[in-house]
Amino acid sequence: MKSKTFKPPIRTLMGPGPSDVSQRVLNAMAKNTIGHLDPSFVSMMDDTKNLLRYAFKTKNELTFAVSAPGSAGMECCFVNLVEPGDKVIICQNGYFGDRMKENVERCGGIAVIVNDDWGTKIDIAKAEKALKENPDACILAFVHAETSTGVKSDPKELVDLAHKHDCLTICDTVTGLAGIPLKVDEWNIDAVYSGTQKCLSAAPGLSPITFNKACEEKIKNRKEKVQSWFLDLNLIMSYWDGDGARAYHHTAPINNLYGLHEALVILAEEGLENSWERHYKNHTILRDGLAKIGIDFLVKEEDRLPQLNTIVIPDGVNDVNARKKLLKDFNLEIGAGLGTLAGKVWRIGLMGESSNEKNINHCIESIKSII
Ligand SMILES: *Cc1c(COP(=O)(O)O)cnc(C)c1O
Repeated sequence: MKSKTFKPPIRTLMGPGPSDVSQRVLNAMAKNTIGHLDPSFVSMMDDTKNLLRYAFKTKNELTFAVSAPGSAGMECCFVNLVEPGDKVIICQNGYFGDRMKENVERCGGIAVIVNDDWGTKIDIAKAEKALKENPDACILAFVHAETSTGVKSDPKELVDLAHKHDCLTICDTVTGLAGIPLKVDEWNIDAVYSGTQKCLSAAPGLSPITFNKACEEKIKNRKEKVQSWFLDLNLIMSYWDGDGARAYHHTAPINNLYGLHEALVILAEEGLENSWERHYKNHTILRDGLAKIGIDFLVKEEDRLPQLNTIVIPDGVNDVNARKKLLKDFNLEIGAGLGTLAGKVWRIGLMGESSNEKNINHCIESIKSII
């Protein structure tokens, strides 16, 4: 055997995720593994649920972390809430709306797509038109923070509208959580999922998720079993919620959960609102620095995500070669454009730990030297 211990290079992660993971979180994950039914582990899981409620600004009982990345959180919402024949309206303004459609159809549901141009926010008037034209729809799904384009949409507006038309709402805030304001209870969002490796800066592999009472009702009244055994909330909750009688469902990713717990403790120490503020302030520093070297943003100012900055690649710069050089010479990872934006834009993440002035300066200096 020639294989040796893997030593990852030191990088600065300023792409669409994962973001830099702090030494504190790495140290937490390196702690000794204990049993997943150990009372001490169980109490850490309970504390994690409380910390997630803090991050989501919710009192929802059904709040926990799915043992798989953000895509599984997405799937968990759809498989539990969508039954065969259910009509779901999907507001699509980027890559992730496509995946929602795929999820709905695999659940036997009917997806109605409301398209907005990539790089623009979800148009509330178009969503309203679709709701009026489809009175039998029962769910409206949308992405709060579209990582593929760097656009934020307005959950409150969309949720108010959906509820007027008797629809539940599914909100993807994988990139939103801890980076921009999100108020699950105040805005009455029904089902919400996120990820750990974006603005929470924990390692990838878990998906924080929360459901309100209306979702619990819909799930309880399902006519058919949830298609996915692993993501069936009825089963998962007997594990996360056991109250001493915790039933074995699967073995939790124990050390990864230590990391998420520590990342959430760090968030609580900083303060959620302060985290939102820091992400915004650092976006303005990056924006002003890039303006000085003649770089334009794709998205108009008021719709921009501070944690995901989509910039136009300057004329004459080769996308792939430039990003290779950034990685090789500067240990800097930034994101490529997706779909129709491939080769036209770069995506600079300022998420969680990565959202700091040292990274911003490093990023601006590195880009300056390759354009
Ligand atoms: C990253 C991301 C996901 C998927 O999360 P994974 O952890 O990569 O599975 C889903 N939605 C959005 C908006 C994302 O940015």
